[in-house]
Amino acid sequence: MARRTKIIATIGPASEDEATIRGLIRAGMDVARLGLAHNTIDEAAARMADIRRIAALEGRYVGILVDLPGPKVRAAPFGAEPVALVEDTQVKLRIGSTRSNASDIEVDYEGLLSDVEPGDRLSMGDGRVILEILDADGDRLKARVAHGGVLNGSPGLHIPSDRLSMTAPTEEDLRAVERFVELDVDMIALSFVRSAEDLARLPVAPHPEGPLVVAKIETRAAIDDLPAIIAASGAVMVARGDLGSECNIEELPVLQKEIIKRCIALGRPAITATQMLETMVTNPEPTRAEVSDVANAVWDGSSAVMLSGETAIGVDPVNVVATMARIAERADRAFDHRAWMSELSDLRMTDTDDSDTSITDAMTQATARAIDELGIQTILCISGSGFTVRSMARFRPSARILGLSANERTVRQLTLSWGTEPLHLPEQGDIALRVAAALVAARDRGDVAPGQLVGVLAGTNIRSRSTNVLRIERVPEA
Ligand code: PEP
Repeated sequence: MARRTKIIATIGPASEDEATIRGLIRAGMDVARLGLAHNTIDEAAARMADIRRIAALEGRYVGILVDLPGPKVRAAPFGAEPVALVEDTQVKLRIGSTRSNASDIEVDYEGLLSDVEPGDRLSMGDGRVILEILDADGDRLKARVAHGGVLNGSPGLHIPSDRLSMTAPTEEDLRAVERFVELDVDMIALSFVRSAEDLARLPVAPHPEGPLVVAKIETRAAIDDLPAIIAASGAVMVARGDLGSECNIEELPVLQKEIIKRCIALGRPAITATQMLETMVTNPEPTRAEVSDVANAVWDGSSAVMLSGETAIGVDPVNVVATMARIAERADRAFDHRAWMSELSDLRMTDTDDSDTSITDAMTQATARAIDELGIQTILCISGSGFTVRSMARFRPSARILGLSANERTVRQLTLSWGTEPLHLPEQGDIALRVAAALVAARDRGDVAPGQLVGVLAGTNIRSRSTNVLRIERVPEA
């Protein structure tokens, strides 16, 4: 069985040329992440067009996830070579965006002097360096390097989110959203979400008219408002870099498991992100602990695992994706589908006010049981918005899931859905025509054989999210 857990790769200076993008797609990149922290909107838009063009040439669907930086505070670049900050030395922090070095760090945040206080401990580069603020000195903050380490590029500087006067989405985020919505982007991630209201401030139409909105969980406040944030989002990212700075580090694996489970129960894809294969930024092989981290993220139920610096600035991005694909595929083969299904059956979609949700919940539950009892190996999910497919995927069936939609953007969004092979189905007629077209499309691609028994899940009303038809069909002869 092919890999079921999806791979998101961040595109950056090490991976934006045509040959590398093609290599990433061939190695298993399902979704390309474009960060706006290091790129202008125009540069990211050009990259998005490149990726779509190359994916089409490769005959593959690749989703595009634009990651809005939100109130992400970063240091100005340290230059091409890694720079060591030595423990117990002093550094100065000031507002600026030109250059940083081992003693003077410029920070791209106007509120630096007002939001940060003596005694604060600030993490840089997702915990690589810890600074302890000593005092303010005119337009600078003096800090002691409490834990030394090596920094490169423009590392993030984590200011506790309850201190930050800047909130998500920022003005810059809003400008980016307008542009990428015009370009029909598939997914938009919002950083430093603190409440469901933050997501509501994005200028996007509700899904499926608007893109799939990914809430990045990386603040304490988001943990406290988790059920509402998950309900208001299209997918969720466990953004372990900043989340690890916001909470006690030993809480992180517990939070990861909890967030993933709650997301999947509601049919929201869950992404596990950050430092998954971090040492591969420079090394050809991951550490043994990193291999276990990726595999455990798969067994936690992650829909997708994400690469950041590994593919954006690493020495061999294609090797990193190929390595992650091998680890995920092996972990997928050891996944306990039965145990997950019985656990999920107790975690129903709870939105009882919305009949579309309750109907889809019941129908996907019935499908999971039926295919298990009948030993069916392939489910065809025909969906307008992708909701049916995501709802089916939450049961993590051992059967293959083909996610079919007439809507090209829905098909690209399904690249994020666990275990789903996305497929465009141009037929938009009544249910009988769509089911017949789906069976023929799957057979002609060689996904199913004539005479094979398959489950087909769909909705009679093409405009409704509700899944109200389950058919057990035999694949017709050619
Ligand atoms: C994170 O903090 O883990 C994360 C994914 O966000 P970013 O890469 O934007 O810092």
